[in-house]
Amino acid sequence: MGLVGKVALVTGGTRGIGRAIAARLARDGAKVALCGRREELAQEAARELSSYGQVIGLGADVADAAAVEGLIGRVLDEWGGLHILVNNAGITKDGLLLRMKEADWDTVLAVNLKGVFNCCRGAMRAMLKERWGRVVNLSSVVGIMGNSGQTNYAAAKAGIIGFSKSLAREVAGRGITVNVVAPGFIETDMTAPLGEERRMQLREEIPVGRFGHPDDVAAAVAFLVSDEASYITGQVIQVDGGLLM
Ligand code: NAD
Repeated sequence: MGLVGKVALVTGGTRGIGRAIAARLARDGAKVALCGRREELAQEAARELSSYGQVIGLGADVADAAAVEGLIGRVLDEWGGLHILVNNAGITKDGLLLRMKEADWDTVLAVNLKGVFNCCRGAMRAMLKERWGRVVNLSSVVGIMGNSGQTNYAAAKAGIIGFSKSLAREVAGRGITVNVVAPGFIETDMTAPLGEERRMQLREEIPVGRFGHPDDVAAAVAFLVSDEASYITGQVIQVDGGLLM
């Protein structure tokens, strides 16, 4: 229960990795606000996670700066502070570059990268006031090693790494750490469309021999937002079963 007294915002917390992170932080004692694009789905997820601790669900599109401002305001109104921000919301719109539509580039960059900018900028004032803060941004091993068919997604996920290292330098002296978690292949709706043949191929490439579970990612996030991680900032922690060494 190391997070008692802390307030956390987890974006994209209605399912998959974000939901596992919200559950874990609530279990560790934090008051958790999870957000999804649709308020009713966020509220439903929050209700389902209530056995872990205090969780509320709020609707906001992270790509929309005004909506994010409203979201942060609601968290502050509800709980009077914001100490932990986990930027987890993300989408893919895959395609080879020659066939990629401009809209698919723009949307993936808007949600995955501008969303991180919107939420960090919105949360920073509250964290600076507290002189304590933890930001964890979800990138991907794809942002480090690239992936055919994902130029938009890889660019956004690589951008998150440069963004996070820069912000880490800006706020390190104020008790705020900013780190990145880069998952490999994790069992969620995002990886569900992969066919069985591709899955078998991938499992062979992963030294641990399996896809990760959302809880594997949540465990890394839980450590990075704890008091014990106060001397770790600007780092990229891969949770990928050894896929990329
Ligand atoms: P998912 O598709 O299962 O869930 C994504 C969540 O983000 C959902 O709750 C969705 O509602 C929310 N979301 C999407 N767009 C949003 C928006 N505009 N505003 C607010 N919320 C929005 O995905 P996941 O697999 O759980 O992935 C979570 C994060 O981890 C993503 O950033 C993803 O890129 C990253 N990641 C996932 C994997 C994987 O293998 N699953 C690997 C590497 C990185």
